[in-house]
Parts: sequence; C-alpha cells; structure tokens
Amino acid sequence: MAKKEQGEPRAVRTMRIGAPRIERRGGRARLTAEIRIGEDDVRPLWFEVEEKYGRYLCAERADAFLIGLLNFAQRERLDIVCEAPVTARLLYQIRTYLIPSLARNSKVLYETRIEAPMDDTPMANAGGVGTGISCGVDSLHVVKNYARSPYPGLSLTHLCLNNVGAFWSENGGRQYDWQAEHARQFAKEYGFELIVSDSNMAEAFQQIHLLTHTYSSCFAIYALQKLWRVYFYASSGYDLQSGFSLKDNEQNASSHYELLSLDCFSTPTLQIYSEGCTITRFEKEQELADWEPAQKYLHVCLANTGPNCGACGKCLRTLTALDALGCLQRFDNVFDVAAYLARRERNLAWLYKQQLIPSDDEMCKPAYERLKGEIAFPVRVRVWLGLLYERLARVRWLHAAIHPVLGRLRRLRAPRVRP
Ligand SMILES: [Zn+2]
Repeated sequence: MAKKEQGEPRAVRTMRIGAPRIERRGGRARLTAEIRIGEDDVRPLWFEVEEKYGRYLCAERADAFLIGLLNFAQRERLDIVCEAPVTARLLYQIRTYLIPSLARNSKVLYETRIEAPMDDTPMANAGGVGTGISCGVDSLHVVKNYARSPYPGLSLTHLCLNNVGAFWSENGGRQYDWQAEHARQFAKEYGFELIVSDSNMAEAFQQIHLLTHTYSSCFAIYALQKLWRVYFYASSGYDLQSGFSLKDNEQNASSHYELLSLDCFSTPTLQIYSEGCTITRFEKEQELADWEPAQKYLHVCLANTGPNCGACGKCLRTLTALDALGCLQRFDNVFDVAAYLARRERNLAWLYKQQLIPSDDEMCKPAYERLKGEIAFPVRVRVWLGLLYERLARVRWLHAAIHPVLGRLRRLRAPRVRP
C-alpha cells in the first residue's frame, strides 16, 4: 500500500452533480448536468448526439456524470453529491471496490465519498451492442471479432465515435472532423450504424487523457445508457497477465486497471467488456494483418494532421510491427510504405532506441525481437552515441561547450549550395 503525500493535504471540497436534463435543438439532442465545485465554480457538462438517438440519452440517473468525473474528484480531493439517483448496483461497486482500491494504492488519490439517492430498478435498454471506432488497432480488433459473433446477443449493432478526450487539443484543430469522416466511410463500406457524438468533457474538465480515458469513455457509454446492453471497450494492448496494476495508479494509464474499473461500471443490464485484454497489441496486429478492412482503414497517428504521418511514435511503432510481421505492403493504402522502406535503417535504429530507454514503449519489444538481427552494429553504435549526447546535453555547461562544435561539424558535412 502506498503512503500518502507528506505535509498538509488540501482541504476537501464538494462537487455537486445537478440533475441531468435533455434539450433538443437544431437536429441534435443534448444531455447536460450542471457541475458545481465548491461555492462558485459552476461548469455545465454535456454530451450530444443526433436527435434520432436522443431517446437513448439517460436523464433519469446521474450514472454517466458520476463515472465521468470520478477520477477527477479523487485527484482534486472532492466528495461528490448527486441530485439525481444513481443505479444502486453501480454505486455499491464504485464505493465498495473501486474507490478504496485506487486510493489505497496511490500516493495522491483521495478516497472520495459519494452521497446520492439510489434506484435499484433495472434501466430498460434497446439491447444495443456497441464499440468505439477510432480505426486504431484495438478498435478494429473489436470489430473484426464481434461484427458477427458466434455468441448470441454479442454481435455489434452500432459503432461510436465519442469526442471525450482522445481528439481534443488545447489549440483547437479539426482532427475530430477528419476522424469522424474516416469512421463514416468505414461504417458505410461495411454496413454498420455509426453514432458520432460530441461533448465538452475534455475542455470543461481538462485531464491527461491517457490517465483517465476509461472514465471519459464510460461517461459516453452511460450517457446512452438506454441503448446499450453490451459495450466492448477496446483494451489498450497490454495483456492482463503483465498489464494489470493498481500500484501508483494515478501516474499510469487507466487501462492498467480496467479489469477492475469496467467490472465496477457494469450492471446486470449493461455489461462493459475489456475486449482483447488477454493479448498484446502485437498479437492484435498479427490478427489484423490479413483483414481487408484494417488494410484499408487502419489509423494510429498521434500527429493530428489527418492520415497517418508515418513519423510519430505510434506510426513508427505500428510500421515496425507490420515490418516484423512481413505484411507492410498490405498496408500501403494507409501508410507511405515506400517512404518507410527508404528510411528503414533509421526506423530500425528508432526501434532499437526504444529498447534502451528505461520504461519506454514496452509494446515495441515483440517487433524488436523479430527484427534485431537486421540492426547492424554501426547503427547500434550511432544510437548509443546519440543517447549519450542527449544525456550529456542535459548538463548545461557541457551542452554549451559541445553544441556549437557539433553544429559546425554538421555544417561542414552538409552539401554546399552553389549560388
Ligand atoms: Zn503519425
């Protein structure tokens, strides 16, 4: 059990979640609750869908808002008061299992207390089976396995794209529009019904998405509580044997303890599964290698510039994995494979570097194990020297001494341009 922070803790405040309401305007339906923190910090939190899906929004209970803001409350030392009822089983699981487990394995998380009326009548739903469709490896893995499931009642009825954090940036940007269009094309081509939602969650409650995505995604799931009977939440590519951890959970991706949190967020009428949680990202990539929809639509990029850039960490990780699997060419619709191959030596050097940086991307390991025989000794030496330089450059006086010399060497090596 981790020890709490030394020194005087911040005062506990109250976050009051107002009764949710639904407004219909301009062909859209919006579920909103006023969130009051302390005395005078009031922020409306909303979730919006096309009007035809408005009948699935749930304003009778505070479930969505409680789940969506739970981790925020634990970080900010907030107790929660809900004006609307919370589903009794959900409240029991969150209070009894989730909050204590997280708080007692964290140096900073507060053991939030929740005050709420309860409702133990089952919330009727339309029997929908859903998943998110970012077109990343994890989401495509769900679609591949559950487009037509052999298990009765587990085939997907809807795909969703929820704007609750993954596509949000402080500087604005239109990546979500690109992503929505990409998802629309996918859904149209393969015959899925797609729900594209919008929300101010990421803007009104700014959090590090990696650490809190389970909460914000389950906010979106519970906002449409009257639709879903089953929801497959794509696991993040850490298999449950090596990936599950509660230790210092406030610093780690919330996916590391999804087996606990998603179980606590499930009820007898709405089951949320961590799909793919028994296998790694690399194994998922292996399963998708021959699947045509993945070859046409895979999108993993972090650059927020539309299609895969081929240069960011996630693009490189995926490209090197496909390289290791020997199936790069099959993905030339979504990656510039020729550009990757032209820089292959550099890309493999990048892969090698990920192995040398402590606690860096573990997901690169399987590709490295397959490709390491192709990384020549001089390439490795260059990577070591590069890392050494990066370390030394952190010492200010050394940086001041070395940097101009290297700059001069680079200029000497650069081809001269004749006037
Ligand atoms: Zn990229």
